[in-house]
Amino acid sequence: MSTDSKEEKQSRKEKKAKKEKQKKAEKTHALYEKLIGIVGPSRVSTDRLERLLYSHDLASLPKEIEMGFKMVPDAVVRPRSAAEVSELFKLAIEEGISVVPRGGGSWGLGGAVPIEGGIVLDLTNMNRILRVDPENMEVEVEAGATWEKVCDEPNKVEYRFTRCMWAEAFRELDADDIGSWICEGDDPGVHAYHPRLRCRMTKTLMKGDPYCDHCFYVQEGEGMGEHTVPE
Ligand SMILES: Cc1cc2nc3c(=O)[nH]c(=O)nc-3n(C[C@H](O)[C@H](O)[C@H](O)COP(=O)(O)OP(=O)(O)OC[C@H]3O[C@@H](n4cnc5c(N)ncnc54)[C@H](O)[C@@H]3O)c2cc1C
Repeated sequence: MSTDSKEEKQSRKEKKAKKEKQKKAEKTHALYEKLIGIVGPSRVSTDRLERLLYSHDLASLPKEIEMGFKMVPDAVVRPRSAAEVSELFKLAIEEGISVVPRGGGSWGLGGAVPIEGGIVLDLTNMNRILRVDPENMEVEVEAGATWEKVCDEPNKVEYRFTRCMWAEAFRELDADDIGSWICEGDDPGVHAYHPRLRCRMTKTLMKGDPYCDHCFYVQEGEGMGEHTVPE
């Protein structure tokens, strides 16, 4: 039977916790050093506030989820090239840590959020348009290119979405009318975030058109502008 006093037990517990905290800090620092070795110090962050910002995407997830998963990443890294991404993945495999790629973080259901910490790869720096082929209606872009950037490309292609998970799901449920209502929410939805954010849409799969041509864009100046969702 242990004869240790309550104080001795408490002190041992505290020492153990301190040691574990120190070990974790050393490990995080070693990871940080390796990451800056790949992309440089200005494109790696282990700042607590910044990591918290990357622990959710468009919407906050229920608090209960935070209890079961480590949604705050250990580091946020912003690569600029495929070669850097490749090096980062090699490191993650060596270290046995997970990597979560992130674009605009606009999917609202936690897709770009870690579940066991690790690295969030913020790809917004990789936003170049690599190739535009108007004849074949093709455009090749880096992973972080936004639709706005593609819309603003002088050698513009008219783009068409020929598949949409929502259109397919609502059609299967024989509920296109409800689906169309969701499409029509895109413009007022983004507009509610900022008065200059808009969504232009003249064709939708949901209403039976062969493609959708919706485009989110930033409107010049202030005001409501024209709402072009088709009747
Ligand atoms: C207002 C609004 C309207 C929308 N309307 C539609 C719609 O009509 N039809 C529809 O289908 N969707 C719709 N969406 C969903 C939208 O398509 C997704 O939010 C968007 O495609 C996610 O892009 P993102 O760059 O923000 O990705 P994120 O939210 O950053 O990531 C989404 C997922 O993709 C992964 N990912 C990101 N980048 C990469 C990469 N380079 N390589 C591998 N994996 C990666 C992430 O890990 C995550 O799992 C809508 C969203 C909003 C906000």
